[in-house]
Amino acid sequence: MVETTYKHNRTPLIAGNWKMNLDHLQAIAFVQKLAWSLKDAGHSSSDVEAAIFPPFTDLRSVQTLVAADKLQLAYGAQDVSQHDSGAFTGEVSGAFLAQLDCTYVIIGHSERRTLHAESDEVVAAKTASAIKHGIVPIICVGETAEDLDKHGPSAVPVAQLKAALAGVTSASDIVVAYEPVWAIGSGQAATPEQAEAVCAALRAVLDETLGSDVASKTRILYGGSVKSTNIGGFMKQPNVDGALVGGASLDLAEFASIIRFQKHAF
Ligand code: PEP
Repeated sequence: MVETTYKHNRTPLIAGNWKMNLDHLQAIAFVQKLAWSLKDAGHSSSDVEAAIFPPFTDLRSVQTLVAADKLQLAYGAQDVSQHDSGAFTGEVSGAFLAQLDCTYVIIGHSERRTLHAESDEVVAAKTASAIKHGIVPIICVGETAEDLDKHGPSAVPVAQLKAALAGVTSASDIVVAYEPVWAIGSGQAATPEQAEAVCAALRAVLDETLGSDVASKTRILYGGSVKSTNIGGFMKQPNVDGALVGGASLDLAEFASIIRFQKHAF
């Protein structure tokens, strides 16, 4: 079993992105069952932090449940507006998410970048907005299959991270998620070695731009077809500190098993 304080004291983070799945009633049932299953298994959030990212409409229910039952489960939103308030139909501000006690917010997921045309500038503005409201941004970066052919594995994720850090200071708490677009929902995960190479390059960007202290304490996640059977390979890599999980986070037993990787994958 790995030490809980390995990799420069970075607590592993397993984050479940539900995307547009599970309404607030389903969220309540899922969160209760997940929390009970982790508690029954003796799981401690100081060993591996678990977080869920339900749709906006579920967040108030999740907040109430987590607070009432003192659940060891973090949660956050899948997106945030770059604006604080005003005439921005359909958007949700960081101030509102902070009122819902969101610890995290996912920013720049590839589905936002492609389906909603989010540019690097918008990702940077959203990152700054999350930080301003005391919410930890999970900044997603990753190359498409075409990028991989044309530019190699790290060029696009490195450029995206540099752009996203425009409004970040060395005092900011951030998480980075490397998600190769070709691996998301495809069943074809990157190899642990591929993930490690890019995560190491991303840590070098943190080192250059924010200093070695931030670089050594920032968690870098891998995302893209993570399952209970492949999480161990990623978590053995020195620069991979957790996973951003899509499809498998909707399967309670599978997600719990990914969170408990230390018990079966080493
Ligand atoms: C994602 O959408 O962030 C993701 C990693 O999805 P999946 O795990 O289904 O590949």
